[in-house]
Parts: sequence; C-alpha cells; structure tokens
Amino acid sequence: MKIGVYGGTFNPIHYGHLRSAEEVFEMLSLDKVLFITSGKTPFDKPDLEKAEHRYEMVKKAVNGNRHFEASDIEIKRRGRSYTVETIGSLGDKYRESELFFILGIDAFLDLPNWNQPDKLINLANIVIISRPGYMYAGLSLSPYLKNVSEKILRELDKGIKSNFSSDISKTRKAFLCKVTGLNISASHIRHLIASGKNIKYLLPDSVKSYIISNKLFVRR
Ligand code: ATP
Repeated sequence: MKIGVYGGTFNPIHYGHLRSAEEVFEMLSLDKVLFITSGKTPFDKPDLEKAEHRYEMVKKAVNGNRHFEASDIEIKRRGRSYTVETIGSLGDKYRESELFFILGIDAFLDLPNWNQPDKLINLANIVIISRPGYMYAGLSLSPYLKNVSEKILRELDKGIKSNFSSDISKTRKAFLCKVTGLNISASHIRHLIASGKNIKYLLPDSVKSYIISNKLFVRR
C-alpha cells in the first residue's frame, strides 16, 4: 500500500489541507491519506486549541471520504511529539507499505530545524506541495534537494511542470507536486473568527458548526 501522511496542527483544518491531500492522493496513486493531528510540540503557539478539539474537527472534515483517515497517534503519545517518531511508529505499523509524508513548501523550509531530519528522510518519501505565497525557487539552497536544479524549480513555479521527483536519501524520494493554489490558512481563519467575521466556504460546514458550538477561537 502507498500511504500519504499529512501532519498539521489543524487549528483548524481547512480546504487548503483537504484539497491538496486529495490532489496528491490522485497524482501519486496513493491508497489512503492519514491526517495526523499534532500533539505537544516545541513550537506550540498560545492560540493553539486543545488537541481533542483539533482532532474532532479533522474527524468531521474527513468524514465521507473513503480514502481519508483521521489519526490520533500523536495526541495519544505522552510528552512532546516529533514527526520522526510518528513516521517511525507508522513504519512499524504498516510494515508492507510505503509512506509519503506530505508537507507544504513553508513547512519543508523549516525541516532542518526539526528533530532528526536526516533520519526522517530515510523513513518516508517526502511530498512537497505548493502553497500560495511560497515559491519552489526558494528551495534552491535546501540541503535536502541537491539533485533538483534551479531550472526545474522555476519550471514548477511557472507551471511548465506540475510535478517532479528526485532522490532525497539513499532509500527515499522527494516528490514536488503542484496543487491548486488555495490561499487559505488556519491563522487567517482564527483572525476572522476573533474579529466576528464569517468563515463560510473556507472549511467544511461540519467543522464550522463544531467551532461555533464549542466557541473555539473566540478571544476570551
Ligand atoms: P497556521 O496558519 O496556523 O500556521 P496552516 O494553515 O499553515 O496553519 P498547519 O496545520 O500548520 O496549517 O499546516 C499543516 C500542513 O499543511 C503544512 O505542511 C502546510 O504547509 C500545509 N498547508 C496548510 N495550508 C495549506 C494550503 N492552503 N495549501 C497547501 N498546503 C497547505
């Protein structure tokens, strides 16, 4: 099986996450995509809602899509959670499968600051998806993409190419996948809610209703 692993704080999950996951699922012929709600991380911001609420919203968002699955693997783990451990556990659980860790250009740029990035790129293939406001050209200095030329990165940005793959480690590949640019971020959604504005069409209605009934993201 080919399993996509889409990690995030999902504070809250929105259509930028869901649509990009669906497009990667199709582009790479995956069998399913797991959405992993982050547990405690060293980078948590003060406006992060409780993991239980964020996970509930992910469950509601993926409901109805047979190849999407919400996972609580990180929030069940005690203490801080690191992606490298999560991917390691998933590798043990799905021994016969190939893992594809999906993240946006913004998150990939931060990879050198993560715990054991060199180990991570030997445990899973890495899928770098496009995101409005970020250019593939910005990855030209990435220590992890030495085999990808500036020309290829520019062609992806211009839309001349829609995907490209290259080795990222001895055993795994990097997939650069252009997805429909939806300029949606969880921080903007939180800002709209805190300013009393509406968030319709930025995320599924079921998630919107959950936010309203639990009074999430309202400034207290
Ligand atoms: P925040 O605004 O709070 O930082 P976010 O919208 O970036 O949140 P996260 O849960 O932090 O959402 O992101 C999880 C992953 O989803 C990251 O790899 C990020 O790059 C990717 N992602 C988020 N929004 C989009 C989007 N609109 N298009 C493509 N990828 C996205």
